[in-house]
Order: sequence, then structure tokens, then C-alpha cells
Amino acid sequence: MNDPADREIRLALWKLHILHHAARHEVYGLWMLHELAEHGHIVSPGTLYPILARMARNGWLAASPAKAKTRRGYRITPKGRALLKQLRTEVAELHHELGGR
Ligand SMILES: [Zn+2]
Repeated sequence: MNDPADREIRLALWKLHILHHAARHEVYGLWMLHELAEHGHIVSPGTLYPILARMARNGWLAASPAKAKTRRGYRITPKGRALLKQLRTEVAELHHELGGR
């Protein structure tokens, strides 16, 4: 997607999706691209893979060893889980403020 709002603001939403799904099962780049597309977020692999790598570098995800880059799986770490817990509260608060029910 070429809308600049995607990178600027939606980047955070994509990361929340990733954290949430990685907390439930190992996630793969391709699977994640499809998952985001189902929510109407058309993200390119060139955007997603660096996000996954960066989240792993920050200690929120752990990459499964070896395999090709495109087949690398990611799981949430305890640090990621703690972050997700905080973010869940913050997102609920924001949702409430934005007029959600
Ligand atoms: Zn999702």
C-alpha cells in the first residue's frame, strides 16, 4: 500500500497483530501477510520481514533457528508477553476513548 498513513500509524497496528498471534502460535511471514490482508492491511514482504526481524532484535519475539528467511517462524518471548499485556490495556482504553463499545 502506498498510503503514507500506513507506515506512519498502521505500523503499530501490524505489530500488535503480530504480537497477539505470536502469543498463540508460531507465526510465519507469509501466514502473517495473509492474516493482515484479511483485515484489509496489504503489507509487502519487504515491509513485514524487517518488522519481524526488528521485533526479534528488541526481544519481543524469538526466531526459530535455521531455515530459509522466508520460512522462519517466530514465537512471543516472556518480554513480548509482558508488553502485550500492557498494550492490551492501552488499546482497550484507546478503543473506549475513540467511541468503541
Ligand atoms: Zn490479527
